[in-house]
Amino acid sequence: MESRSVEQTIKYAFFNHLSEVEKKFSLYEVIEKLTNILKNVLSIHHAEYYQYNEKLNYLTPVNKLDLPSKSLPHSFIYGEVYQAEGISLIPIMQKDRLIGIVELTDLNENLSYKELTEIAKACSTFYSYCMNLVHVTQNDQKYEELYRITEKFHSLMDKDDVLVELISTLQAMYTEFIFYLFLSHDNENHRDLPIKELGFDYQEDNELAMEAYVTGKVKTLSQDNIKQTTVYCPLKGKQGVYGVLQVVANNDIELSKENKDFIVMLANTAGTALENAQLYDQSKRLIKDLQLINETSHRLNKSLRLTDTMTYMSSRIMESFDADEVGFFYLNQDGTIQIFPGSTEFFDSEDLHMYLDYIREKLEKDLEGLFIGDISTILEDAKYLSIMAVPMVQSDSLKGCALVMHKNPYHFSFDMFKLLQSLIHHSTLALTNSLLREELETLVKTDHLTQLYSRSYMNSCIEKSIKIDRQGTFLLIDIDNFKKVNDTFGHQIGDEILIQVANIINNNIREHDIGARWGGEELAVYLPLVELEAGIAIAERIVSRVRENTNPSITVSCGVSYWNADHEYTFDQLFKQADKALYDAKSKGKNQVIVQSDME
Ligand code: GH3
Ligand code: MG
Ligand code: MG
Repeated sequence: MESRSVEQTIKYAFFNHLSEVEKKFSLYEVIEKLTNILKNVLSIHHAEYYQYNEKLNYLTPVNKLDLPSKSLPHSFIYGEVYQAEGISLIPIMQKDRLIGIVELTDLNENLSYKELTEIAKACSTFYSYCMNLVHVTQNDQKYEELYRITEKFHSLMDKDDVLVELISTLQAMYTEFIFYLFLSHDNENHRDLPIKELGFDYQEDNELAMEAYVTGKVKTLSQDNIKQTTVYCPLKGKQGVYGVLQVVANNDIELSKENKDFIVMLANTAGTALENAQLYDQSKRLIKDLQLINETSHRLNKSLRLTDTMTYMSSRIMESFDADEVGFFYLNQDGTIQIFPGSTEFFDSEDLHMYLDYIREKLEKDLEGLFIGDISTILEDAKYLSIMAVPMVQSDSLKGCALVMHKNPYHFSFDMFKLLQSLIHHSTLALTNSLLREELETLVKTDHLTQLYSRSYMNSCIEKSIKIDRQGTFLLIDIDNFKKVNDTFGHQIGDEILIQVANIINNNIREHDIGARWGGEELAVYLPLVELEAGIAIAERIVSRVRENTNPSITVSCGVSYWNADHEYTFDQLFKQADKALYDAKSKGKNQVIVQSDME
């Protein structure tokens, strides 16, 4: 077999390796291969690679923590093989730059300087060639990773998910660096993320992060004394910066431009994803807010009883704002305050007044409302610290106020206040209308069509009479076949007949008696202090007068009930007895008077 020189054997081994290797391999594998080939071919035990640090002019072992760093020997000539005292240093050059050194010991003394120089050249070529492959591989992997993470980011709608994905990807790709996130404090609830708070501290750390945050530009800090490089990458979207990624390289580990560019790119991708997540959150919240306003207005316009409406409003506000107390008060025309139904119990307590006095005074000056994070700075003894007060304004004047409170300070956000404002703004008209309607119902004493008293007025009179009088008689009167009258003569004539009957009633009772429109074509008469016999006579008279004096002629039926000290009915019982008697009158052929059975 033809004998090859050592140098040729090494070249051959390098060549063989290069033609065999799989496409993907790392820097460590290259160094391992290089030193192993040298050890094998040269039959030595020790071949160690050191990376050359140009700035500090010393050698660092790669991936071997137990080996110390060292300086180059004084007599070392840049780029040339060095030999002394059983140690040989083989320079690894890339385009005339010293990249590293392979240290060999106990080398065969027969090896000439010229041969060693040739070996050094072969090593450099091998190293450069492999490093190119490493770069290609690394770039491939990186861009595959970038592609993967971009796709993942686009599917995430939660800010925390985006941050977790960013940090875990970076930590997996760059085990040699440490990563932190600077976020402004409005973000809470972040799982196990390495978060630092972004603020205006005077630490250098925070200052540069703040600069990156405000300017949206990457900031780098190199500290030679502690062998540390720190990069601050803004997490930048299209509309703003959402935080800052901090990359720390310790122990002089190089943070190459390539890696830095890549990390910046990832940070920007994360920024866009954060922006999307935030917009998604915002739109979700806006939709929820609109739903609340829409549902509430809808409810209010259904003109339910005021109590039901307010109870509903109150519970929706409690739920949407996570409030402790919700209440509504209304300013009467005489300036007194009326608490709306639906307000929480606190609004009945004495404690309310200290808040109310302050709030009322403020609202009278400023119709925008009050948004207070901590009212204890103004009201020392306040139990509820977070306060939102939104006035109900109509025709530029203060009609009332919605008050929402929480025990903790700064519980409500400004967005919540805005929402409450528009909620109350949308509801005020419906609220005051329904309040007025209910007030009118009780206030109005007379029925518009018949000019008889209203039912509610009669109710209160009967209740009063049962309390203070000895006895009383109640008549419930219903027009017979009124539907047919309407059908035959038309509604307008129907109305006129109602008025005729009402007049007959009024002409047949005395001043202190009360004739009322009970509802529809049902009328009622209450005769205070009148005994049953007299009451029946009046009923009979009314029934016969109606029969004789109406035009077109109609008839009525009448049920009579009575109370006295021996049969002390409630108002409700009195009505039920009369209603039952009226029903009997109808079933016995109408046009007659029937008295409640147990009184006959
Ligand atoms: P009955 O003898 O059993 O009382 O028969 P009715 O037709 O009088 O009884 P019903 O309760 O079936 O119908 C009452 C009718 O009275 C129906 C409604 O149109 C009419 N009505 C009620 N209020 C008014 C009103 O204010 N004006 C007019 N014109 N009609 C009324
Ligand atoms: Mg009827
Ligand atoms: Mg009728």
